[in-house]
Amino acid sequence: MALIVHKYGGTSVGTVEKIENVADKLIKFKALGHDLVVVVSAMSGETNRLISMAHEIDPKPSPREFDVLVSTGEQVTIALLAMALEKRGQAARSYTGYQVQILTDSTHNKARIRDIQDTQIRKDLSAGRIVVVAGFQGVDENGNITTLGRGGSDTSAVALAAGLKADECQIYTDVDGVYTTDPRMVSEARRLSRITFEEMLEMASLGSKVLQIRAVEFAGKYNVPLRVLSTFEDGEGTLITYEEDNMEDPMISGIAFNRDEAKLTLVGVPDQPGIASNILTPISEANIEVDMIIQNIAENSTTDFTFTVHRNDYEKALEILKEIGKKLGAGQALGDDKIVKISIVGVGMRSHAGIASKMFQALAKEAINIRMISTSEIKISVVVDEKYLELGVRTLHEAFELEKV
Ligand code: ADP
Ligand code: ASP
Ligand code: MG
Repeated sequence: MALIVHKYGGTSVGTVEKIENVADKLIKFKALGHDLVVVVSAMSGETNRLISMAHEIDPKPSPREFDVLVSTGEQVTIALLAMALEKRGQAARSYTGYQVQILTDSTHNKARIRDIQDTQIRKDLSAGRIVVVAGFQGVDENGNITTLGRGGSDTSAVALAAGLKADECQIYTDVDGVYTTDPRMVSEARRLSRITFEEMLEMASLGSKVLQIRAVEFAGKYNVPLRVLSTFEDGEGTLITYEEDNMEDPMISGIAFNRDEAKLTLVGVPDQPGIASNILTPISEANIEVDMIIQNIAENSTTDFTFTVHRNDYEKALEILKEIGKKLGAGQALGDDKIVKISIVGVGMRSHAGIASKMFQALAKEAINIRMISTSEIKISVVVDEKYLELGVRTLHEAFELEKV
């Protein structure tokens, strides 16, 4: 008998009818003889609704109270799903993160899971119950409710699967797997039957929100077999796997994009030791994360220093940069928040030359100006003007023939 953890996202439980549909699905799985632990998200739109109410009161609410508030969405769906199962004659129990004791650190709004108590869950499973657990939430050592960051129910599911040593963690969502790029942007996008952990991690961290980054990290670390599938259609979905030697790697597996970036430049910075740290230390002290960084070759002993941050941090970062500029006797601090990042990802890049030039040629042909470039072993990212996002993604999808198997 297998132990499977299922996770249903917001759109899969967005209405009472949809919750009933999930209950029907679970009854069928249970009939196969599996033990089932089910993690659910809040109804679609609910977490956003809660956040906007908090922001009506205070744009920077207390992180502790914020977590008490935003964790409530999941409490609604676990209870409704357990009721729907019971109505169908299937014994079920719902639990909040606190009740299970999903123990996290105390970083409110972005907590990390440390440990999960499995005693009660195991008892319920051996009594034949389906266990329904609230995603996205946990509790710290002082009994405070914590949340795991947007999309965090994916991580709850993977962590439970790891803790319970489940046979598979299945993430049910509104698409039938992981695609070569967001199928809502490129209709020719193709479902991948498998993708490596490494590639999925890059895709997630470069903007593909189909899985939360930490969920992929966790699954890779604890060797949890992870699959993304559709709630609404039958199918194999996409299996996230380790790289196999005999796997015929395509050069590129997917394209990710991120609309949430903004770019800042300090021009005419004196070219001397300590400059990068002089600029970036105050930025990080303001709790602003920096993504890409570029420093140009010095000309007349000054240089331009450019970096990107999350768009939410743009104004604050620009303000700080202006101050730094004054102190360093640099030139202007410039900013642009109408930029996006497009990235191509693939483990096949390691063994194929000429991928970057192919990428740049394809973009040049469409007269898309590249503003920044960064590369790592299995990805190449470019920053371009926001208006070129869709054209850029489509162009690259076509250039690398991702629609073809
Ligand atoms: P859930 O509410 O079930 O957690 P999400 O909205 O978080 O669902 O994630 C599913 C969405 O991820 C899809 O609707 C799709 O638009 C988006 N997405 C982005 N990139 C990809 C990709 N490469 N493959 C599949 N879906 C993707
Ligand atoms: N409800 C939370 C969110 O909207 C967690 C999740 O859905 O994964 O981010
Ligand atoms: Mg999600």
